[in-house]
Parts: sequence; C-alpha cells; structure tokens
Amino acid sequence: MFDLPVNLKKAGFYKINPETLGKGWFEMGPIRPPSEGKDCSLLIRVIRNCPWNRCEFCRTYKSERFSYRNAEEIIGDINVVKTIAEEIKKASWAIGFGGKIDENVITVLINSNPEIYHNYSDNLEIRQQKLNSLISVANWLSSGGRTIFLQDADAPQMRTPGLLEVLNYLKSSFPEVERITSYARSKTIAGKTAEEIQQLRQAGLTRLHIGLESGSDEVLKEMKKGVSGEEHITAGKKVKAAGISLSEYYMPGLGGKKYSEKHALESAYVLNEINPDFIRIRSLVPRQGSPLHERVQTGEFEVLSEDEVISEIGLFVENLKCSSYLASDQMCNLLWEVEGQLPIDKPAIIKIINNYLQKPLWERLRMQLERRLYSYLAITGHLNENLNLMVKEANMAISTRAPDAQQKVEALLAAVKPAFI
Ligand code: SF4
Repeated sequence: MFDLPVNLKKAGFYKINPETLGKGWFEMGPIRPPSEGKDCSLLIRVIRNCPWNRCEFCRTYKSERFSYRNAEEIIGDINVVKTIAEEIKKASWAIGFGGKIDENVITVLINSNPEIYHNYSDNLEIRQQKLNSLISVANWLSSGGRTIFLQDADAPQMRTPGLLEVLNYLKSSFPEVERITSYARSKTIAGKTAEEIQQLRQAGLTRLHIGLESGSDEVLKEMKKGVSGEEHITAGKKVKAAGISLSEYYMPGLGGKKYSEKHALESAYVLNEINPDFIRIRSLVPRQGSPLHERVQTGEFEVLSEDEVISEIGLFVENLKCSSYLASDQMCNLLWEVEGQLPIDKPAIIKIINNYLQKPLWERLRMQLERRLYSYLAITGHLNENLNLMVKEANMAISTRAPDAQQKVEALLAAVKPAFI
C-alpha cells in the first residue's frame, strides 16, 4: 500500500482530460473491517453512517446523521472510479511502467495535473477527496482489484431493488471482481425475505460482517443493540442459506462482571445455531465519547480485567460446537494466537488460553504490558512523557514484584487501550 508524498524514482508526464474525469472524487465512509483493509478493497458508500446509532459501546457515528444515498448517486461514484482507474492504467503505460501501478505513477499523475490535484479554487476538503480517491483506486488496482466493500454500517439497509441495481452495475463495470462485502445489522437482514437475500447473493454480494456482540438478550438490551438473540439466529441462518460467507463478531467483556458467564454461554449457543464461516473476537474497549465509557466512569458498569476477559473467552470457546473459523484479527484482543479452525483446533486454542492463565502473575502482567504497548506504538508511533513514566513505573513494579504492580499495569492499560482501532 502506498501513500503521499513520495520521491520520484522515474520522472514522467501524463495529462488527464479534466472533462473525462468529471468531478474527480467519490464518497468514502470512515471504516471497514481489517480484512478489507488488508486486501485494499475498493470502498463504495451506499448509505451514510449508521441507521441505528444507539449501541452503548460504539462512538463511530455518534455525531453523524444517518442518510440514504440513491442508486443514481452511487452509480455516479462508480463511474468516477472507472474513469480514475482507466487514467491510472493509461498513465502507467504512457510513462513506461508497462501497466504496473506504484507510487511513481501516482506522483506523475498528481504533478502533471495541478489544475485537478493542486487546484486552490477547490476548497481543502475537495482537494483532499480528489487525492484520497486517486490513492484509494490506485491501491485497489495494485492489489489486484478483486474486492469491494460497501459502506457504511449497514449497507443492506438500502432498499433491495436499489442495492441490486448498484451490485449489478458494479459487476458489469468491474467483471474481474470476485468478492463484494458489507457490514450488516441482524435486524435489517431478519427484516428481509429469504428471496431478497438470495437475489443479493446472485447479484454479487458474497460476504457479510455482522456485529453479533452477544447472544444474551440481557446484554443486548443493556447495550441497546436493538436486536435479540433469536433475531441474530434468524438473520445468520438466512445469510448462510443464501450462500453468502458470514463473519460474526463476538465482543468479550461486553457483559461486564455482572453478565460475563451468561454472555459467554449464550453467545456460544447463538453462534452454534448459526454456524457462521468466521467468528471474529473483538474484545471490549470502552471508548471515550461512547455512553458505555460514562457508565464505566460512574461505576455503573464494571469492566473485566485482562485475565477475566481471557477466562471468559475460554468459557466461550469451550462451549462452541460449530465448524467456524475462529479469528482474533482485532487489535483490542490480548491473545492474538487464539485462532483456528473449529472443531479441529479447539483443543489447541483452549491450551493457549490455559497456558496464559496458568502463568505466574508477574509473567501475565509483563505480557499484558508488552503486547498492549506494541499495539499502541503501532498506532501512535511514540509515548508521551506521562505514558513513558507510567511504563517505567509499571516495569519496575513487575520486576520488583511490588504489591501495587497489577494496579500500575491496569492504569497504564486503561490509558493506552482507547487508542486501539
Ligand atoms: S449498529 Fe454498529 S455502527 Fe451502529 S451503533 Fe451499533 S455498533 Fe455502532
């Protein structure tokens, strides 16, 4: 994946006809699953923000208003992507890169077309959107151009006929695309007929990511998820029956101390009923700006410790009887190695969990500190003075086995974890 600015390894010149390019940018929303980021999927925004926007633990769209986009508007964006993609390919051939797309081609395009990419009569936001659109399409093409992600939080919220029109247009515009994915709410999927879900699959929707979070009705209600365990099952089964690959996200810690056991057992039950292709573990991090964070501050919600979260995951895995792939591909998880194909890898996964829990306290604290700092530094690249001091004190407390070592590590983790994506 590449970004700007870069130094040119090879100079060149390629002029885009601004009339061909049209407005030169398309809308993109703020997030996509890590697996789509890894594949540099093309992002096509079919709705804006989240139609529900009430989950207690979520702050992603809290200050944003939900709105629909119509098929015509989205098809306009797809046409912009097509044109940008064609210009990038032509530029690569024109400057002697033989169709290869890298940062040199993009730099040539930007430098050769200041009236598009450095046009100061555009406002700053539009200039940025033009650059983001160019880089996004270039990354997508250079990674093979085979995957697309429909944004934002619940693409199937779009009425089925409009979504079918968009999917059909995407497939005819980019016939080489193999996977089209979106996030979805179980409530939305449960409200569509099995036939509608089948039609979406036939039109090219091949993968859905659903935030199960919990299978427990108490936890779902407390967290204002707006869906029940039964609705999760109905939705999951419909997706599977249509032949759409399904990822369900389970959030350890979401029941707090009060519902931890119930949360683990009932989530396992619901997931056993659905038998999704992937179960993705995404441990709770109460984020500043979310209603749950306020409840943590007032003591109304009791957060689990790192060790309690791992014990809860152990109970959850023990009770899984499905044949899903269990993934830990989220930064907020402590044990990234809790991963494998069920049921065959279940004993090995449980062994990893037990090995961790049986380590002496000092080793567990050291591991928590090192792993959480590694993730924090991967995002921020540095520690401020205060965090630096906290790290030194926590390290010293672990080394000397001080009685307040756990307290010091927990304070440090509470300070760094909110930065996790
Ligand atoms: S449905 Fe998803 S995006 Fe919307 S509020 Fe809940 S967790 Fe956030």
